[in-house]
Amino acid sequence: MSSLEALRPKKRLFLGLLLASEFFVALVLYAFWRVSYLGLENIFEYLPALFGALLILISGISFGAVCNMVLAIKGLPTLKLFHRYSVGLIKWLFPLAVKIGKLFGFKRRQLEGSFIAVSNLIFFKSGIKVPAKKLLVLSPHCLQLSSCPHKITRDPNNCKRCGRCNVGDLMKLSDELGFTFFVATGGTLARQVVKKIRPQAVLAIACERDLMSGIQDVYPLPAVGVLNIRPNGPCNNTRVDMDEVRRVLKNITKDDDNE
Ligand code: SF4
Repeated sequence: MSSLEALRPKKRLFLGLLLASEFFVALVLYAFWRVSYLGLENIFEYLPALFGALLILISGISFGAVCNMVLAIKGLPTLKLFHRYSVGLIKWLFPLAVKIGKLFGFKRRQLEGSFIAVSNLIFFKSGIKVPAKKLLVLSPHCLQLSSCPHKITRDPNNCKRCGRCNVGDLMKLSDELGFTFFVATGGTLARQVVKKIRPQAVLAIACERDLMSGIQDVYPLPAVGVLNIRPNGPCNNTRVDMDEVRRVLKNITKDDDNE
């Protein structure tokens, strides 16, 4: 089973908590509007109405984006207009969703996995396809065999493609398809690479926590995540399902670069 399939049941949990967060924020905004009403009216007669309309517009777009995600999960047609707001919205509401989730006994990691599933779904629903040479594939350093003597974090071409870890497989795939492959030791380096390469999309391989932050870090650049496999525990000789990587690559790349 692919990691995307494995995460499917969790999407509802995430969206439920996201909606709960939306309601909470809407209530706070309403309370704020009520409290500031008289003060605003003293400044300008129509200011409370204008301010209220602005808050309603912001809340409306947020609810629209979440409803759009629900439609995507149900396999129904979605509005592309809202796709671009989805990851940004999640970025702002996620900390609150985690707090609400904790009250119901859900762990942060469950929500992170669910976020990745929803975020990937939005990516695929958006129909984003980029030429392979405009795609950046990022992987964590723990994908490299810990006993490998070759330094690949600054230049993955130092990998000898010996086949003992998936770094070699990804390098071969990069040679074959033409995407840029980079091994990042952290978010800062990943952001530097994105700035330097200027890709049109990112395929990130990592654990739930790093994918969650990575996808948000590169926003508004579209990013799709593939979870790594951790047979030796976190951050140690991790693996990735290469069939899944190929499947995702097939879905998000196109042959020509005629934009
Ligand atoms: S495939 Fe590359 S990175 Fe992995 S062990 Fe071999 S030389 Fe090292």
